[in-house]
Amino acid sequence: MNIPIVQEILSANDEIARENRAVFAQHQLFVVNMMASPGAGKTSLILATIKHLPPDIAPGVIEGDLASSIDADTIAAHNVPVVQINTGGNCHLDAPQIKAALPYLPLDQIKLLFIENVGNLICPAGFDLGANLSLVIASVPEGHDKPYKYPGIFAQADVVVLNKADMIDVFAFDVEYFQRGIAMVNPTVPLFLVSCRTGQGIADWTSWLQHTTQCRTT
Ligand code: MG
Ligand code: ZN
Repeated sequence: MNIPIVQEILSANDEIARENRAVFAQHQLFVVNMMASPGAGKTSLILATIKHLPPDIAPGVIEGDLASSIDADTIAAHNVPVVQINTGGNCHLDAPQIKAALPYLPLDQIKLLFIENVGNLICPAGFDLGANLSLVIASVPEGHDKPYKYPGIFAQADVVVLNKADMIDVFAFDVEYFQRGIAMVNPTVPLFLVSCRTGQGIADWTSWLQHTTQCRTT
């Protein structure tokens, strides 16, 4: 009797994500995949976080955008190594694009790499980049129903940051309702309320990230 042998066949993306993960480990680099809607504050959170990091955690950034280098120019103005990926209309980053960007970064000099994914709450969740941490950023003006409407991306998050928390009252944002929506798909994920504008919550978020970075790379 013939017994069929089913082998797990990794998709081309997952295969390259695995290669990326090996490169990151080899360089003792901790990598954060940042996913959010357009305008949630991905670039602002990168800058606010970098400001609070101790000098021994040197950052680097990969910027993913449909077009333009506006965000990369902003990052470069702060003397942080940055590579811009223009996806040419594609609504997410994939592992081969990350692989192609890596030779342009000083991998032995940086300790923490932020990958700013294309602003989109749907398909970035489906593409493993090889990152160590999936960060989902929501923002108060988007409304407290985001986890109910886009459960897939919240289910995948290792950590959630709610930005523009200084606007909670203005937008009558129901934090408990928002939290319940996340808990439905991801009951133990940490949530940080921050405002990149006022600096509220940034110290707590950054020390959590710093701790997580050190735990996983040493
Ligand atoms: Mg941005
Ligand atoms: Zn997409």
